[in-house]
Amino acid sequence: CATPLAIAIRPLFPTLESTEKVQPLCYLDTAATSQKPLSVIERMQDYYLNENSNVHRGAYQLSAQATQKYEQVREQVKNFIYAQQSQQIIFTHGTTEAINMVAWGIEPQITQGDIILVDTASHHANIVPWQQLAKRTGAEVKAIGLTTDSRFDLESYRQLLTLNPKVVAVPHITNALGTVNPVETIVELAKQVNAITLIDGAQAVAHMPLNVSELDCDFYVFSGHKMYGPTGVGILYGKTSQLEALQPLMTGGEMIKTVSFEETTFGALPNRLEAGTPPIAEVIGLGKAIEFIQNNLTAEHQAEEQALLQYLQAQLKQLNGIELYGAHESNIAVVAFNLLGEHHQDIGILLDQQNIAIRCGHHCAMPLMQHLNLKGCCRVSLGIYSTKADIDQFITALKAVQELFAE
Ligand code: PMP
Repeated sequence: CATPLAIAIRPLFPTLESTEKVQPLCYLDTAATSQKPLSVIERMQDYYLNENSNVHRGAYQLSAQATQKYEQVREQVKNFIYAQQSQQIIFTHGTTEAINMVAWGIEPQITQGDIILVDTASHHANIVPWQQLAKRTGAEVKAIGLTTDSRFDLESYRQLLTLNPKVVAVPHITNALGTVNPVETIVELAKQVNAITLIDGAQAVAHMPLNVSELDCDFYVFSGHKMYGPTGVGILYGKTSQLEALQPLMTGGEMIKTVSFEETTFGALPNRLEAGTPPIAEVIGLGKAIEFIQNNLTAEHQAEEQALLQYLQAQLKQLNGIELYGAHESNIAVVAFNLLGEHHQDIGILLDQQNIAIRCGHHCAMPLMQHLNLKGCCRVSLGIYSTKADIDQFITALKAVQELFAE
């Protein structure tokens, strides 16, 4: 398992190259947030140093330029995910906000007794907003089951589809296990019963190419910070008719056509769903992150990342007293595990002492943890800069943790 492409890319990431620490940072928590390449950081700094102004309103050149740069990124996102029109790209503050916008926005279309299907392995961001919608409307959220190896259960899904659900909301890749859900089949089957589909792509966009037009889902959402971009920006993609049917979660400036004390009329897409001053610098930074992915996440690099995951899985499986969860060769970028008899948080703390960053806990996926009969587990996740040396350093450190526990 060689990782020459990742090795070549690493110097572009200042946090990974920092010389302030004795040991280099072994960052294995990209699923929580990715590190940022210098191009993204410098672009945002340049925006604040030279270009800062508000968009869509100034009568002066600086604002016109900021508006142009901001709108260019909308076009860039459109091309990146193969949407048809740029008005289908709504800037949000992240995946969580995007899902809330849909769960709030479709409320007028939901009536008592309607069924909303959600994958059991979802992140809480794809569970709680639907539960809240159900509480407000008398609809019911039903969990799509998992197979014994914790993968999406198509049989359970097919059965639940006979209830004619109104909405189907699933992750593209699960954040706790890295399972790739069969989203093409999920959307195709949902369309047969006219259910609205939302795909949570927070863990997908940084690892695989995406074509929302081919996928034909109604909504697709993701966050900038998990794809080498800044925090505070995300994307809500939707089919035009679906976006137009959403009642805006946020109202105020920027999203209106006319306002009087008698009545307000809302503007057209995309502004209709972007109330207030948007995260301008973050959007511009996201543009650079997309450029970074397009230049670097080649098919060759994807294959390298996949081989690295399989190497990681194989190395972990060789250890005594370890339990892996939902590990599969088709998973992407994530491995979840526990050392039998030890608390996951203790493992994380002891690894941190060796400058290794992993995530421990329920991973915002408590229903999945219940399915696994766990309180929590450890999660190692990879990014474009992860190398074999990272994995070797991690495995050596984990063995040292085991020895410590054995004493
Ligand atoms: N869905 C998934 C699958 C995620 O991994 C995350 C982030 N961990 C979210 C939703 C929420 O994303 P954010 O916190 O950026 O809004």
